[in-house]
Amino acid sequence: MVTDYLVVGAGASGLAFTDALVAETHAEVIMIDRRQAPGGHWVDAYPFVRLHIPSAYYGVNSLPLGDDRIDDAGENAGFYERASGEAVREHFAEAAARLERTGRVRILTGHEHLGRVADEVQVRDLATGKVHEVAVRRKLVDARYLEASVPSTHTPSFDVSPGARVVPVNDLPAAASSTTAYTVLGSGKTAVDACTWLLDNDVAPDRIRWIRPREAWFLDRAAFQPLEQVGGIIEGLSLDAEAAAQATDVDDLFQRLEASGRVSRIDPSRPATMYRGTMLSARERQAVRQVEDVVRLGRVRRIEPDRIVLAHGEVLTGKDVLHVDCTALGLRDAPAVPIFQPDELVLQQVRQNSPCFNAALIGFVEAHWDEDAHKNRLCAPNPYASTIEDWPRLMRVTWSNEYRWLREPELSAWVAQSRLNLLRALPDHAAEPSVQTSLQRFLTHVRPAIERLGQLDGAAVKAPGGR
Ligand SMILES: Cc1cc2nc3c(=O)[nH]c(=O)nc-3n(C[C@H](O)[C@H](O)[C@H](O)COP(=O)(O)OP(=O)(O)OC[C@H]3O[C@@H](n4cnc5c(N)ncnc54)[C@H](O)[C@@H]3O)c2cc1C
Repeated sequence: MVTDYLVVGAGASGLAFTDALVAETHAEVIMIDRRQAPGGHWVDAYPFVRLHIPSAYYGVNSLPLGDDRIDDAGENAGFYERASGEAVREHFAEAAARLERTGRVRILTGHEHLGRVADEVQVRDLATGKVHEVAVRRKLVDARYLEASVPSTHTPSFDVSPGARVVPVNDLPAAASSTTAYTVLGSGKTAVDACTWLLDNDVAPDRIRWIRPREAWFLDRAAFQPLEQVGGIIEGLSLDAEAAAQATDVDDLFQRLEASGRVSRIDPSRPATMYRGTMLSARERQAVRQVEDVVRLGRVRRIEPDRIVLAHGEVLTGKDVLHVDCTALGLRDAPAVPIFQPDELVLQQVRQNSPCFNAALIGFVEAHWDEDAHKNRLCAPNPYASTIEDWPRLMRVTWSNEYRWLREPELSAWVAQSRLNLLRALPDHAAEPSVQTSLQRFLTHVRPAIERLGQLDGAAVKAPGGR
């Protein structure tokens, strides 16, 4: 087989990249994925998962996801719709079919990338075991560098003794009716979803125990609403910039962010160190605060039929208790490497919290510029955040990248019209007084913020364009 680009990974990143590249070039692409269907981790997601961001800026650029409807009931009332896992899978299946219909893209699911041998890349068909050689004229695209880890496919980091009842969160709906007591394991959004699902299904809060090794900060979903509500996004970013410019250290930074409503924690009386950039609405936060039996003894080491052994102690449990594993890492903490390399492209985050936008933007940049050094300047890699210590680098690199995009008219025109750009409706609202105020605050603070964040991050940078 011969192709211009071989894309390894047909998840959100691989599909959003290929969608943008094919729209901008005549390139031929082969995509491969170990899974039996396109969509990446969404193929194995738990049944009640939803996007934590609005559908309006998720998926591939050329195909809308949902109808940009504002929900009028439920915990998302007043906010733009968020697709279910099934709707996300359907979106990616349709995106893949449309790519194949161009006649320039072949998608080989059930195929695994093995590595490069001389000038060719080896790919194994998992059904037959047959190994194929692919000659790549331009680049191999690593669209699995940030591969997500999810409960249904990961190996838990704790032991389970015979007789203990432990299920991945995917099996919660099926297993829930056989018990009346639940222990949710994990500190992140999946654990929040498991607690919320139980509460929504009339499980009393005192029947739920939550093993939460770390306390997490969450963003407020109200401040990430696009289109008609885009003013809230720019207001939030201006508060981020103001807090960053004035912060004396990372703890002070998070106190400022919390005081301005940018971040919140489930238990405000506890220090929080985890920051993954996930969002909750005020209603979700209020709901899970009803769970009061929270165990904070570090990570689980072993679950036995009658006790749970943790890093810093143990608690009693029982054979009738259903333990729900929500401990998968989710986003991968991979270190930054150059995105554009001589024979390879390694897809990574460039703007915070926008995986599909990032992959599509990299596809556009690959299509329009030749020199790797320049492409890497436009797309500095920005690893996913894991702790509060990562916030200064996350926002500094995001704002520095965005500044460089503004200086490339072709690229900034693409960004301005991209469906995946959460700020795309900003020009339509720029004359509104509240938006004017936010823009002014953002512009006043963003350069000092980048320099301050560089100091907090130990990078001692100058804001781009500075003297
Ligand atoms: C539960 C959950 C909910 C999320 N919700 C949101 C959200 O609402 N909004 C948002 O912006 N982000 C969200 N994210 C972040 C999420 O990681 C991205 O949105 C996105 O789906 C990640 O896609 P990806 O293509 O980078 O990785 P993946 O989906 O992990 O895809 C990588 C693919 O590479 C394949 N692969 C790996 N190695 C090989 C190999 N050797 N050969 C062949 N194939 C290989 C894998 O099979 C996999 O399908 C969520 C993440 C999780 C875990």
